[in-house]
Amino acid sequence: MTGTKALKDKLLAQSRTRQSYRQEVESSAAPTTTPSAVDFAQHPGYRQLQALRQVGAERWGGNPFFRTHEGCSGATAVIDGAPYINFASYNYLGLSGDERVAAAASKAVEAYGTSVSASRIVSGERPIHQQLEAEIAKIYSAEDALALVSGHATNVTVIGHLMGSRDLVLHDEYIHNSSLVGAQLSGARRISFRHNDVSHLEQLLRQYRHQFERVLIVVEGLYSMDGDVPDLKALVRLKRDWESWLMVDEAHALGVLGDTGLGSFEHAGVAPGEVDIWMGTLSKTLSSCGGYIAGCQPLIDILRYFAPGFLYSVGMPAMNCAAALESLAIMQAEPERVQRLQQASSYLAEQAQALGFNVGPCIGRAVVPVITGSSESATRLSHGLFERGFNVQPILYPAVPEQSARLRFFVSSEHTREQIDQVLAAMQDCLRAP
Ligand code: PMP
Repeated sequence: MTGTKALKDKLLAQSRTRQSYRQEVESSAAPTTTPSAVDFAQHPGYRQLQALRQVGAERWGGNPFFRTHEGCSGATAVIDGAPYINFASYNYLGLSGDERVAAAASKAVEAYGTSVSASRIVSGERPIHQQLEAEIAKIYSAEDALALVSGHATNVTVIGHLMGSRDLVLHDEYIHNSSLVGAQLSGARRISFRHNDVSHLEQLLRQYRHQFERVLIVVEGLYSMDGDVPDLKALVRLKRDWESWLMVDEAHALGVLGDTGLGSFEHAGVAPGEVDIWMGTLSKTLSSCGGYIAGCQPLIDILRYFAPGFLYSVGMPAMNCAAALESLAIMQAEPERVQRLQQASSYLAEQAQALGFNVGPCIGRAVVPVITGSSESATRLSHGLFERGFNVQPILYPAVPEQSARLRFFVSSEHTREQIDQVLAAMQDCLRAP
């Protein structure tokens, strides 16, 4: 149990190093028992939220966040009672809402209940966990795989556990928050390289590799803000030359990239075994909830027995495993879904560009940004589209630099050309409106 306590203390200590919290504590000369120390309304997070709410009220005349979707959202959605054409859900292959997926989930609930009621290491293990992990491992021709209850927590706990204070994490500057938090938790040195710039990464490896025991390079297979992809072949070469691990987050790439939707390795023509750590989520193409890692047996064994986010957390509910398993089977049996998604998203990117919209470096696969150049214009355009029956979320500063504020379109295999033409016409209409 000493190990457990030490681990808990380490986690607590690391989580307390958050910048804002530290600044708050350090800048306060007052004893911690002042009313403000126990008043949540004085917490810096709450003050930040109040400022955001004010901006929302000024620009939108209300709160644009937590809008309630009724029923299942995909290419269309019902929001606060009204129908919309929806470009804001990552239901990439239209499988959330597919009746076969729903039936598999219901069957699993009947068989196993709604919770496995324990961490898997003690008494939460079910055959369906092993089936799911075997299918995920097959995708990557990997020795094994592990499924965790959250995609975000997967990156946090895996990077947080594998890396330590003598190690270095090198990540793309646009890497998802979950990998950043994992790197911070690990206590490793963390350095970002310019987006998709392998020569910058190489420069950093040359400069720093020798100072650290282990080095982890973290990238995404398809970037969720820009819809572009890394040069996987070059990354594999670099990680070999510099004796580092390469981790690829396939959250937005599975079901989206490659002729049959297997993801980055299929898209780039790289053998899946060339990547040390494949990470993905069950929440997008696989229409479930959770995260996974696939790789060699020692890697998966380490995580299965020691990663805190797996070990000290409940096992994945059987219904989530069943939904992901069924989605994976449908994805492979119906590659035309992948084709439809790719055709719809490249159509959107091409047509938007032809109309003079700036789609940045996106490759026309599921994620298509329309860069408007300021948070103000992105918000106005999103609002205008919403009024015309289209749900497209704005991505604003500080999520992206102010000058690259944008609308972000998530495309689904279920979007029709007609719906895409309609949203493009609506965008032009919004820009013409006074
Ligand atoms: N990685 C990436 C690249 C993501 O975009 C996300 C969330 N969309 C996650 C990890 C976390 O996954 P989840 O939402 O399934 O927890």
